[in-house]
Amino acid sequence: MLTEVTLAICESIVTAAQMLSEQGLSPGTSGNVSSRYKNGMLITPSGVDYAALTPDTLVFVDQNGQYQHDALKPSSEWQFHLAIYQHRQDINAVVHTHSEAATALACTGRGIPAFHYMVAIGGGENIRCAPYATFGTETLAHKALEALEGRMACLLANHGVIACGENLRAAARLANEVEVLSAQYSRALGIGDVQILDTQEMQTVLAKFKGYGQTL
Ligand code: 13P
Ligand code: ZN
Repeated sequence: MLTEVTLAICESIVTAAQMLSEQGLSPGTSGNVSSRYKNGMLITPSGVDYAALTPDTLVFVDQNGQYQHDALKPSSEWQFHLAIYQHRQDINAVVHTHSEAATALACTGRGIPAFHYMVAIGGGENIRCAPYATFGTETLAHKALEALEGRMACLLANHGVIACGENLRAAARLANEVEVLSAQYSRALGIGDVQILDTQEMQTVLAKFKGYGQTL
């Protein structure tokens, strides 16, 4: 039986996961979503159709990576989700997708440089690509953490995207932004002679982002 608070968090994870799937960002059963919870996290189950997700299918994994073994298995990527919560106190939600343009770009091993000022939405002057490691491994978790240093998003070589946020909405929004930026960057690469903004300009943009939009 889920308590009212747990149920609300589970519902928001299911909503976020199904939205990403409906937006076409997580083909098939690829991708996963989690939210920091108590001393661990709540995460989507492994290999379950997005349409079949309900609050009680979510899996609690504690700070030591322990979970109930007589219930649904957590996402195979629980290790990078947990590593992010353990090392980044500024992050409360993690989204992983195999969205088309970002994954295609990651298959070239490229990250996203400052070809557009919106790259700053990832928290820095570029969005890095973590070197390849097999899905569902501790090695992938280490490489992802490194690529996320000072950032809220990264690509995973030959795999996909990780987008983080202080809440699920922010993480899901960032996953969308990374997909759009990847599509734009790939298109620009096809035209050729892509101009990259310099560090100083990106620092100006990052500072400007802090006061962007409605502040009240
Ligand atoms: P899960 O279904 O186990 O979450 O795996 C999907 C995935 O994207 C693995 O990288
Ligand atoms: Zn994946």
